[in-house]
Amino acid sequence: MTEVAIYNTLLAGWFVLAAITFVVLLRLAAPYGRHAQPGWGMQLPNRLGWILMEAPAVLVMAWCLAVGSPSRLVWFFGALWLVHYVHRAFIFPFRLRSTGKHMPLAVAGSGLLFNIGNAYLNGRGLTVFHAYPDTWWQDPRFLVGLAIFGAGLAINLHADTVLLNLRRPGDKGYRVPSGGLYRWVSCPNYLGEIMEWTGWALATWSLPGLAFALWTAANLVPRALAHHRWYVSHFDDYPRRRRALLPRLL
Ligand code: NDP
Repeated sequence: MTEVAIYNTLLAGWFVLAAITFVVLLRLAAPYGRHAQPGWGMQLPNRLGWILMEAPAVLVMAWCLAVGSPSRLVWFFGALWLVHYVHRAFIFPFRLRSTGKHMPLAVAGSGLLFNIGNAYLNGRGLTVFHAYPDTWWQDPRFLVGLAIFGAGLAINLHADTVLLNLRRPGDKGYRVPSGGLYRWVSCPNYLGEIMEWTGWALATWSLPGLAFALWTAANLVPRALAHHRWYVSHFDDYPRRRRALLPRLL
């Protein structure tokens, strides 16, 4: 089997898996953080779990860039990817106030497999299987996608920072977040993440980019709904006009 055949099969399967994941996660909140439950087998320290599952997204993309023959544009896409994932894999885990918290090996393992497949599809897609015209830098899809990616990154970083600052060192409990987009939604960090990869799909105008955007929504729309239900059931004074993910809509 050639690499193209393997790539195309994996890509088709990626869309199917995203749909299955969405349906499963609507019924079952991924068992980490506030939705952690007993019965999920071996546990890892939370920080280690995050590094383990996110580091492959950096390593595989770096490998694709190193062994491919990227144009300046593809280097730029690679840099956007690495900005997000170097933070997620190697900085974010050390910002967590989650001393003593754990995540199931099953969650870290499935995140790790997802990130290997996803970085391979996007990395090889960009460096080997797709070509862009020289004018792509001025294409409206690139420019609008880049703006959505940048806005999503800023929203995600800000919203995560608000959450991480809610706890004092050693504190493990939950408080009601406020300010910024928390005025309107319970999970602006997830909204920002979905915007990032929707912008990426538009800017790269690629099927693996689209698959990744759908995967992100498949993971985070159900989780935002679960977080929102959890907030409403745990805080009597939870702001009534706040929605889960999209102001006034969802
Ligand atoms: P959460 O919002 O559940 O938690 C983020 C951190 O903030 C955790 O350390 C959590 O603690 C803490 N926290 C959350 N809410 C509160 C609160 N009300 N009071 C005090 N502390 C709080 O996010 P996730 O852990 O699910 O995700 C983290 C990042 O990873 C996000 O930016 C998300 O977008 C991204 N992500 C991306 C995915 C994708 O498919 N692309 C999939 C999953 C995550 P604790 O762990 O104890 O709950």
